[in-house]
Order: sequence, then C-alpha cells, then structure tokens
Amino acid sequence: MKLANLAKGVLVADQILPEDLNALAAQGIKTIFCHRPDGEGADQPNFAEIAQAAKKLKIKTHYLPVVSGKISDADVTAFAQLFKEAKQPVLSYCRSGMRAASLWALSQGASLGLAQTMEAGKQAGFDLSGLTQRIVGTQANNASVIHHEVVIIGGGAAGVAVASSLLSRNSKLDVAIIDPADTHYYQPGWTMVGGGVFKPATTVKTMASVIPSKAKWIQAAVAGFEPDAKQVILEGCRPISYDALIVCPGLKLNWHGIEGLVETLGQNGVTSNYRYDLAQYTWELVKKFKVNLARRFDAKKQADILALCLDQAKLEATPVNQFVDMLVA
Ligand SMILES: Cc1cc2nc3c(=O)[nH]c(=O)nc-3n(C[C@H](O)[C@H](O)[C@H](O)COP(=O)(O)OP(=O)(O)OC[C@H]3O[C@@H](n4cnc5c(N)ncnc54)[C@H](O)[C@@H]3O)c2cc1C
Repeated sequence: MKLANLAKGVLVADQILPEDLNALAAQGIKTIFCHRPDGEGADQPNFAEIAQAAKKLKIKTHYLPVVSGKISDADVTAFAQLFKEAKQPVLSYCRSGMRAASLWALSQGASLGLAQTMEAGKQAGFDLSGLTQRIVGTQANNASVIHHEVVIIGGGAAGVAVASSLLSRNSKLDVAIIDPADTHYYQPGWTMVGGGVFKPATTVKTMASVIPSKAKWIQAAVAGFEPDAKQVILEGCRPISYDALIVCPGLKLNWHGIEGLVETLGQNGVTSNYRYDLAQYTWELVKKFKVNLARRFDAKKQADILALCLDQAKLEATPVNQFVDMLVA
C-alpha cells in the first residue's frame, strides 16, 4: 500500500488489502472510498472484503467504482457529495491512486484553483495535467499529442509477446506498450500454485523486466479510443496517437456474476486459481482435502480413485503424483 497526502484530511492510495486496515485505523482514517471496480485485476480483493475488515474497525466505506479514465461528470458529482458528508481523514483508493486523485481534483479544482490542485497532485506523485482543460472548463487541445508507430495496449503475455515478435523482425520499429501495472503475472503458473508446485512469488515479475528493451513503456491506463483520429486516450485525458494499434488488455473477471461469491471467496473453502492471492489458499484446501477423502470413501472407492489418479499421473507431472501421495497417506 502506497499512501500519499493530497490535502488536509485527504489521502489517496493504490489498491489496499484487508490486512492494511489495522494500519489505516492506527493512522486515524475514518472513511474509505473505493473507486476500483471489482474484478478489474486478477490480484485485487473485492470491495466486500475491504468493507468487512473496515467495519470491524468502525471505518465507514463507500463503493464508487469508475472505469479507468472514464470519470463522468456524474461520478464527480457523486464523489463531491460523499466527500462533503464524509468524516475525515478520508482515504480514497483505486489501482494506482490516479482515479482517486483525479476525482478529488475534478471535484475540488474549481474552488481550490488550478495551480494549487496541480501542485497537490504533483506532491502526491500524480500528474494531473491531463485534467487541466476539464478543471478550467475549456476544450481539449491536442497540440502536444505523443505519437508511436505501433501502440500496444497491455503488457501481459500477449502484449509482451507481440512486441518482441515485431521488434525481432524490425528492430527500428517505434513500439510503445501502454500498461499501468508495475507487476507482470505468469497466470498459468497460478494453477501450479494451487497444486502446491510453485510458490506464488515464482509467478511474479516486474513489468520493467519483461518489456522488450527496444519498446517504450508508457505506464498509464488507456481509458478511451478515438479510432477516427488514430489515437487512444490515457487515464488523466492524455492522448497518444499511432499508425497501428494492438489491443490486448486481458480479461475482466465478473465475480459478482455468481450470487454470494464475493462475500465468501477466500474463506469457507471457496477459492479460485484465477486470483493471484487465492491460488495459495487453493493449495491449503487441497492439502486438507486428503483427510476428507479418506474419511468419506470406503476402501474399494479409495482404490478406484487411486487407480484413476495413477492413470492421470502417467499423463501429467507432479501435482497429480502429490495428490496420490496425499490420498494414500
Ligand atoms: C489459473 C490460470 C491458468 C491458465 N492456464 C493456461 C494454460 O495452461 N495455457 C494457456 O494457454 N493459457 C492459460 N491461461 C490463460 C493465460 O494465462 C492468459 O490467456 C494470458 O496470460 C492472457 O494474457 P494477456 O496478455 O491477454 O492478458 P493479461 O496477462 O491479463 O495482461 C493484460 C494486461 O493488460 C493491462 N491492462 C488492462 N487494462 C488496461 C488498460 N485499460 N490500459 C492499459 N493496460 C491495461 C493489464 O494491466 C495487464 O498487464 C491461464 C490463466 C489462469 C488465470
């Protein structure tokens, strides 16, 4: 968790975790705003998990999710209203803190003044210059648009692979990868974490270490597309133009699509390998599973299952072997 002060009684942070709540309570935080939609990334707890932990510490929480870079006037009005009524200090968070800082700037900028708002953002580590026109209420001016021959949205397996492939064919190509994340995950490895073969850390690399050295990394989120103008708009309203655009921002998981799931995920024996922080919990459950199996089935059924596992073990590697070991233990 990276905390920054925007103004008196107003802090912003990147994604917080339930285990951060004690430290936030110790800092005196009274209200928390979440601006990150559930399921946006594969390494984030759902808002319900944060709210549950906050409630125990008597911290009030509000869910005001906004899609990266698509802060509407209605979002700003909703934020302004909540902010006015909120007990301070307020902590506002999203993936990086940028949306939180932008909402604050857009709602308070007119009264604070542009210079002071920009400076507050800068001191907190956020470049809010893309909001200038919106704060002062004039039309955007595209005179300073940055251009790249190839723009790739997303530095996951797809984005990094396509950038490497293009640059290996033409090393002079001007390729930019746009991705706000510091971290690159080897997602298929989470299956191995859930199977007890990998430690979670094995699946994590810094984004900087996987971006091809000849590609430029723009660490920001793309918020909108303007195909007629051949440009994308970054969070904070900065445009980037291109000759060719490759879009690979991955999938967004809809945990809310299953009723009751978000309230119980990560506890009560409910898990998913599709979330980085839960794959390890899968392995904990798998380890406990052996006891249940042995208790549940009679000797003949256990022998049948064992035979099935042994067949499978011929096709697959360690996880299945480990499973067999557990079954007969
Ligand atoms: C548990 C598990 C097991 C799997 N097993 C297999 C397997 O065995 N074989 C297989 O082929 N595949 C497997 N997959 C699928 C495979 O991992 C994914 O298909 C692959 O990693 C997806 O890569 P990607 O680059 O499309 O997306 P991601 O790796 O999700 O990367 C997307 C990137 O886009 C960035 N991004 C998102 N929004 C924006 C935005 N607005 N602006 C800029 N950047 C943005 C994100 O920060 C992220 O870095 C598995 C996945 C999981 C979770």
